[in-house]
Amino acid sequence: MATLQETADPDPLAAKKRNLRAFWRTVWGGGVEPLNRPLHLFLEVTSRCNLRCAKCAMNYDPERLKAQNLPFTFLRELGPYFATALEVNTFGFGEMFLYKDLRPLVSFLKSHDCRTAGITNGTRIGPAEVQWLVGERYDTLTFSIDGATRETMARLRGADLDSILEALRLIRDEKRRQGSPYPRIVINFVVQKDNYRELPGLVQRLSELDVFFLGVNALHHFSGPSTPYNEFYERFQIGQVPRAEVEAVLEESRRLAEAAGIMFNHFVNVDVEWPAPAPGGAAPATAGPPAEPAPALSPYYCLYPWMSLYLAADKTTKVCCFMAAEENLGSFAAPSDLDGIWKGAPLQSVREHIRRGAVHPACRVCVEHHSYRNYQSHLREMMRFAGEDPEAAEEVAACCTAGPDATPARDAPPLAAVADLLYQERSRSRALALKVEALRRELKSRDDEAAARNRPRGLLRPGGVLRRAVAGVTPAPVRAWIRRRMAGRAPARP
Ligand code: SF4
Repeated sequence: MATLQETADPDPLAAKKRNLRAFWRTVWGGGVEPLNRPLHLFLEVTSRCNLRCAKCAMNYDPERLKAQNLPFTFLRELGPYFATALEVNTFGFGEMFLYKDLRPLVSFLKSHDCRTAGITNGTRIGPAEVQWLVGERYDTLTFSIDGATRETMARLRGADLDSILEALRLIRDEKRRQGSPYPRIVINFVVQKDNYRELPGLVQRLSELDVFFLGVNALHHFSGPSTPYNEFYERFQIGQVPRAEVEAVLEESRRLAEAAGIMFNHFVNVDVEWPAPAPGGAAPATAGPPAEPAPALSPYYCLYPWMSLYLAADKTTKVCCFMAAEENLGSFAAPSDLDGIWKGAPLQSVREHIRRGAVHPACRVCVEHHSYRNYQSHLREMMRFAGEDPEAAEEVAACCTAGPDATPARDAPPLAAVADLLYQERSRSRALALKVEALRRELKSRDDEAAARNRPRGLLRPGGVLRRAVAGVTPAPVRAWIRRRMAGRAPARP
């Protein structure tokens, strides 16, 4: 493909930027067969783990206990994929520091200018690992920590909290010694009934350890046949604690984190954890996830299927780490199989569902828990890494207007996609959120009204809603893009 050719370009990120443009062209052209290669790869380098955390599938699914690795000899052949990928994650279900070729793999990825990220239980990191992690400028390392006391960490994860905190101290000190900000440290805390009270205490213990971000996630339920995990979930799901109590703990943790200079966010879906009473005032039959997901989803609510490919240690694939472990969207034996999987029917089907705002069966649990929303910050991070404007505006504009190597969009983005773009902007501030919510409602009612009268949509009128919308809430390049797209689609004015 001309756009992805590797050239001796002086910009080391040129191939990645071309891939990014191909991605935008695919998405905004409404395509389900991508013009781009994955922007982001998950490499489940090993399925082995030295811990048996109480909540982990390792404990419930004997299949998971199979010790499998992605051989480095195989990964070395993925050079063309790494040349165009912005980010590669070196983890999956297992503990990445058990993979004996982790260091050469990271060097190889860095030789392709990839951003690197991974999740670890933190128990296998000593001075030697710290030295090369900092020396190689490994980008983001996430530690899973679910308690502030030795007892809780021993009970929930079978891990020694003190040795994990010592690894964090070593990393902080080595970064200072080498004068490097990398790796950036992220902490992931899975909040549940028997540990939520320890969250503020954990923030305090982390305050001197140069932590960049602390994220709080809830336990996920799993669809399908009943397993011992379901029982665990029923016992410890955070929704069993009064909501106000949990919110107070989260608020206190946020305050402490801010005081310590740690970015803080939680991804607890309150609608799932504390379902609303049934109509008529009756209490919901059971706490926990709704029987059927019923979220109002915008088209293109998740872009991961256009961005990411997950290679599991057992040589199966899925889109992302939020998909159920047993999903397989295509098995591979050789690197040459990956192109077919990336463009193949199973992945196209996932994209096709998301394109129209529907839920593919493989995405069901993720959608119920709103995990897919991570894609927005993830994409912005990758764009920043590529030196592109994370607001995406100029890229979108460039991709949607035919350039020398551009594939013309098959169709203009549907109106809902424009509204969705505005909707995504709402995370930028509370005031903006309110403005955009109001705007969305207005957009919809105007649109419905125009459609009912078989008249041109109100959005296109000079001085109409869209014009006011784009003038009020979107950055200038996005405005330019929307104007061009809408003009291309319907040049005639009512
Ligand atoms: S909806 Fe969730 S599971 Fe599906 S592709 Fe997006 S992030 Fe992955």
